[in-house]
Amino acid sequence: MANQIPKTVIVSACLLGINCRYDSGNSLDNSLLEALSPPGEYILIPICPEQLGGLPTPRESCEIHYGSGEDVLSGEARVIGLETGEDFTNNFTRGASETLKIARLFRCRKALLKNNSPSCGAGKIYRNGVLVEGNGVTTALLMKNTVTIETL
Ligand code: SF4
Repeated sequence: MANQIPKTVIVSACLLGINCRYDSGNSLDNSLLEALSPPGEYILIPICPEQLGGLPTPRESCEIHYGSGEDVLSGEARVIGLETGEDFTNNFTRGASETLKIARLFRCRKALLKNNSPSCGAGKIYRNGVLVEGNGVTTALLMKNTVTIETL
């Protein structure tokens, strides 16, 4: 049988142990490698949309106000810093666009993303410190462009 070409998968870099979180930590999840079995079937493309959007590490923690990632993309919601109230929407939309660019470059049809994040969350995000229904900004843009999302 001919060797299969490995599938490329976008992965939130913090899930792989990269210290790119807002607090300079990571969210290493060993179950991720199990989710990608058998070994060798996938090539992982680590991304951090918030860093790609030009934000530093460490950085201020943010939440989406007045909606979800889809609403941010359509200009109806904003991404706001929890300490200063600063508007970081442009960084989040830029990070989402850069992530989509990478997904297209590497022909990724699937993304494994960190849950509950205002960038990478799928299905749930924080608003006023409480988990509510909604997607992060990058998740919303990838879904709009037919990338299948799984969260860990
Ligand atoms: S933006 Fe995504 S990849 Fe970056 S730290 Fe937050 S959850 Fe992890």
